[in-house]
Amino acid sequence: MADDDRLRTVDEHLSVVLDAIGSIDPIELTLLDAQGLLLAENISADFPLPSFDNSAMDGYAVRAIDTRDATSADPVRLQVVGDVAAGAKSRSGMGPGLAMRIMTGAPIPAGADAVIPLEDTDRGLARVAINRPARTGECVRRTGEDLAAGAPALAAGAALGPQQLALLAAIGRDRVTVRPRPRVIILSTGSELIEVGHRPAFGEVIDSNSYMIAAAAKDAGADARRIGIVADDHAKLLDTLENQLLRADVLLTTGGVSMGAFDVVKEALSDLGTVEFTKVAMQPGKPQGFGHLGNKVPIFCLPGNPVSSLVSFEAFVRPAIRKMLGKRSLQRATVQAVALEGARSPHGVRQYRRGVLHREAGGGYGVSFVGGAGSHLIASLALSNCLVVVPEEDTEVVAGSQVTVMPLLLSNR
Ligand code: AMP
Ligand code: MG
Repeated sequence: MADDDRLRTVDEHLSVVLDAIGSIDPIELTLLDAQGLLLAENISADFPLPSFDNSAMDGYAVRAIDTRDATSADPVRLQVVGDVAAGAKSRSGMGPGLAMRIMTGAPIPAGADAVIPLEDTDRGLARVAINRPARTGECVRRTGEDLAAGAPALAAGAALGPQQLALLAAIGRDRVTVRPRPRVIILSTGSELIEVGHRPAFGEVIDSNSYMIAAAAKDAGADARRIGIVADDHAKLLDTLENQLLRADVLLTTGGVSMGAFDVVKEALSDLGTVEFTKVAMQPGKPQGFGHLGNKVPIFCLPGNPVSSLVSFEAFVRPAIRKMLGKRSLQRATVQAVALEGARSPHGVRQYRRGVLHREAGGGYGVSFVGGAGSHLIASLALSNCLVVVPEEDTEVVAGSQVTVMPLLLSNR
């Protein structure tokens, strides 16, 4: 076997890919556009949270000392000198021996040091009977107790979920600098392909890969866009790709990377010298193209069979997109499951089989296979919810043994 015929392992190819993936310049986005992204700046609070002492309950603002002797049998009665509602624009004040009716979130009046909740009073309007002593500071949310002015709020690298977006809004940030979603452009190649929405004539195939791969890229965190179908034509392919260079952080093609006479992606891009076509020791997904166009935009040329295309995406593209997003864990989490049936696997090749993973009644997971060997089988692909990963050295999965499973969970981003 010639040296260049040696198959590259999945791990080797992934290293080549990841080494060539850089980061994208941070951008400023509004809060909801930043959801799911990683912060690219350290953020501190300009003002304290809460920014004024306020009530934690609906009740009466009092001086704790005035309620010292209150019991339910012998309540302390105080004159109510006014109401303080949330949104009060200035701080009210009250003297000793008095009370103010106060709502949750309303500023504590000067002169008060506690709030006695409504339920411990007779809810009186002019005078209130208080049934127990209030503790100093009771039901008072102190200025800065959540976050002091100038204190660090979120550090660069923080993932922005609902909780973090709440904090950013609370401290007055409506825009933040984040690692952006890579713009991924998806192109299907093949002269047999037609757009969805038409009934295929003899010999025609509806392009399903671009929907699958765009959805997978979006799920991985990318800003994914399909740009349709290109026939197996050298010049058209190069032209279309070139037109997208300015708009893309990553280019993805499917089809045309095998040994066939019309495998135009491989022919056309090999000539450029910046895209390498490799055989990877995996099944499905052996032929892989990867490199750069315009010297800086990474391009992945995935095989055309739908199952091969998705497995290739999972193995190489998803980790690359996650690296661009700045994520620390690039690989999907795996679980161990009991194989409910046996299967054979070629030696020296990492096999990815479509599976149906479920929780066993007694705990743990079980997995069965769907779809067999054919990487054109889209209906069974649609039944699967995971990939079963059979390591290179294994030639067989024994029914009842533990296998490694990669659940294809949706991120619901
Ligand atoms: P190729 O990799 O171009 O040799 O294509 C391999 C197989 O995948 C062929 O049967 C193609 O018709 C099919 N195929 C390629 N591209 C797509 C696509 N975008 N959608 C559905 N099937 C495809
Ligand atoms: Mg083709």
